[in-house]
Amino acid sequence: MRTTKDVVVIGGGLAGLAAAAYLGRAGRSVALVEKAHAPGGRASTQESHGFSLNLGAHALYRGGAAHEVLRELGVRFTGAAPSPSGALALDRGALHTLPSGALSLLTTGLFPLAAKIEMGRVLGSLAATNPAPLAAVPVSAWLRDAFRTPEARRFVGALVRLSTYCADDDRQSAGAALAQVQLALSHGVLYLDGGWKTLVAGLRDAAVAAGVEILTGARAAQIAAEGGAVSAVELANGDRLGAGAVLVAASPRAAAALVPASAALAAHAERAVPVRAACLDVALSRLPRQRPGFVLGIDRPLYLSVHTGAARLAPAGGAVIHTAQYSPELAGGDPERELEDLLERAQPGYRGAIVERRFLPSLIVSNAVVTAEGGGPAGRPGARVPDLDGLFLAGDWVGPTGMLADASLTSARDAASAILSRRALDRAA
Ligand SMILES: Cc1cc2nc3c(=O)[nH]c(=O)nc-3n(C[C@H](O)[C@H](O)[C@H](O)COP(=O)(O)OP(=O)(O)OC[C@H]3O[C@@H](n4cnc5c(N)ncnc54)[C@H](O)[C@@H]3O)c2cc1C
Repeated sequence: MRTTKDVVVIGGGLAGLAAAAYLGRAGRSVALVEKAHAPGGRASTQESHGFSLNLGAHALYRGGAAHEVLRELGVRFTGAAPSPSGALALDRGALHTLPSGALSLLTTGLFPLAAKIEMGRVLGSLAATNPAPLAAVPVSAWLRDAFRTPEARRFVGALVRLSTYCADDDRQSAGAALAQVQLALSHGVLYLDGGWKTLVAGLRDAAVAAGVEILTGARAAQIAAEGGAVSAVELANGDRLGAGAVLVAASPRAAAALVPASAALAAHAERAVPVRAACLDVALSRLPRQRPGFVLGIDRPLYLSVHTGAARLAPAGGAVIHTAQYSPELAGGDPERELEDLLERAQPGYRGAIVERRFLPSLIVSNAVVTAEGGGPAGRPGARVPDLDGLFLAGDWVGPTGMLADASLTSARDAASAILSRRALDRAA
């Protein structure tokens, strides 16, 4: 046994780092093990030739729960909101003005008159609709029942994809999706200067300042238990960390593999259907055109955004463009080719300016679609694993609050509070 800690956290993404920081601040001895050579997980940023490339397009939801946790932990970051002006919609091969207000709705060629009238009403009413009754309704049924014209359905469907990254309309909860669309429309998003590595660095610094020991290149292989309670984390290199509690801040499959005897974890892993995206990210020495800075696919699940339009991510004159095809396993076709065509359409000649190009065909954006069948976010697992005392979970598939990084960070805070409120641990402290 190398050492014994009050808590061992497995996973050094946003969730693991944040939970470790809260626990360290509360006076617990904490070790965090991360299998990669550096913390960050899916919030990592690749640095190359002075460009900062997030792992696919990342935007922080202003007013979301992540923002609140980052503020509480003193994580500093700067960034700006992307401008809606000059944004385009791609529908059946044609580019149109993307409606973002009354004027652009009147002038866009995206909708015929009947749809414009409906959209005028819809854009106003989306914000006022209560998402709670829609928790167990699939997005596809909501779109069919709540909107009259096919154009309005397609447009709201595109807003859902943009806000949730999920194109699985038959599975996703309309209530969860609508709440996410409302968050995006009411507060907007921030693209972060330097990329999401600034959040990782801030959380790591907060954890280290709170006394957390961070071990990188350290893969947890198994969680050992004695008498129905966790006792240690065994690492792949043979080390063993004694633990009063263990927090798994990794995927449902990783959690189930760490405790093969847990029926609860096996069930979570079995049920979770990941939200995936195919991402083509490019760093360019120059931007062929100032506009469009943003293109949203309406009939196809596509996204393009010039992130350097709002954030500092490139040397002078350079540009970073993120493109994505949502849920590629459902979209069909050749995502790499479709994203290249989208880039060429929006930024003709971009190939001549490429400094860095990265295609990632199937990134896991979120570990689990928030399903209608599960009753929306309330159906996600809680922080405490019921069949093993002292075992806790955090991540974007855990807890009743939000999606994406909002879910990761609030579930991390909830897991830290659940661990701190454990009577056994309190007695030992
Ligand atoms: C393309 C893309 C776009 C996104 N866009 C947005 C966005 O716009 N807004 C937003 O809010 N969120 C977005 N996200 C989601 C956001 O990145 C994640 O929600 C967040 O980073 C997840 O953090 P996490 O700590 O929960 O999980 P992860 O980042 O997955 O961290 C888990 C960590 O656990 C480690 N690990 C796993 N198993 C073990 C083991 N056995 N031992 C040790 N370590 C282990 C992994 O290496 C990893 O570092 C996006 C994600 C992607 C991929």
